[in-house]
Amino acid sequence: MEYKIALLKGDGIGPEIVESACEVLDKVGEKFGHKFNYEAYLMGGCAIDATGVPLPDETVAGCKASDSVLLGAVGGPKWDTLPGHLRPEKALLGIRHALGLYTNIRPAKLYSALSAECPLRADIVEKGVDIVMIRELTGGIYFGERGRRDGQFGPEAYDTEAYSEFEVERIARAAFDTAMKRDRKKVTSIDKANVLESSRLWREVVHKVAKDYPEVECVDMLVDNAAMQLIKNPSQFDVVVTSNMFGDILSDESSQITGSIGLLPSASLGDSKCGMYEPIHGSAPDIAGTGKANPIATILSAAMMLRYSFDLEEEARCIEKAVDDVLAAGWRTADILGTSDATPLSCKEMTAKILEQI
Ligand code: NAD
Repeated sequence: MEYKIALLKGDGIGPEIVESACEVLDKVGEKFGHKFNYEAYLMGGCAIDATGVPLPDETVAGCKASDSVLLGAVGGPKWDTLPGHLRPEKALLGIRHALGLYTNIRPAKLYSALSAECPLRADIVEKGVDIVMIRELTGGIYFGERGRRDGQFGPEAYDTEAYSEFEVERIARAAFDTAMKRDRKKVTSIDKANVLESSRLWREVVHKVAKDYPEVECVDMLVDNAAMQLIKNPSQFDVVVTSNMFGDILSDESSQITGSIGLLPSASLGDSKCGMYEPIHGSAPDIAGTGKANPIATILSAAMMLRYSFDLEEEARCIEKAVDDVLAAGWRTADILGTSDATPLSCKEMTAKILEQI
């Protein structure tokens, strides 16, 4: 099969890590008989420099015409003083909106070879951490009615959490579909149904959707308990699904369990198969051009693209296993050196090690 991928390399370390991910995709393509065709578009600071705007129309059109989008990272000190609508980060919200990406998927996996980097106790870590956090991305309190008014005690402000059955159902289906592709097949739905009416609706709809997935175990958990359980017993989680705000907070909490920002991929999906895949870190301007960038988060984002946009599960697992094997063999970039006395690899060297394993 042939696939058309839009590349948004962006700024800082963006171009180097996207290049690494493309090399890995090409190697997987060679091995499994697929061809990946790339078309690069400008987004972020580089787009401001070239065109005056962070998200040119041509970029949006190019992404829409592709089978999927791979993003490096945008932003940097050069553009920090521009007004809000011209900031590189504005392009991120713009492209997510333009592509209708309402599902954010962030895996948080602790590699056993890196367990020393985990801030949790060894006896907790040894049970393993392999969570896929699914956050609703375009609804809830971040998009609800808000304002200021005169209240009983004087001026007050309010924000509104509102979810439709439709919005909950589509994110719940994304979670159950994800669980079906995993070995444990468990979904933990996180809400605050003891207090919030929107959470009670959330729970009802999740239960309704669960009936369509009899192979998947479905567990409800209140968000305050979930915040504790992620620290106390993270191995109990497989797929987690939750609202925009709870997901914002809990996905950051879970990412910290894994130790390094340079390892964590993400996917943003909508109704079509065309998703956007990106590392969770930024453009790391402090190390851009030094060769110190860890390409793993972007390489694993490419693996997610194979899984979610192209239904190439075996190929996705091949990349993930290559990363596992390289880390297990003790190869490290500078950001994941920890207490190891290994010589840190450059971005290109780490990419080469991963290519060898494919
Ligand atoms: P950052 O994630 O870029 O960097 C934080 C720290 O982690 C830095 O020390 C950096 O060197 C290190 N780091 C990040 N990724 C790494 C990697 N792959 N390998 C090795 N080390 C890595 O966050 P920041 O410094 O707060 O932001 C820098 C710029 O990135 C800002 O302009 C910010 O707005 C932007 N940003 C963009 C995105 C995105 O494009 N999705 C996300 C977050 C921040």
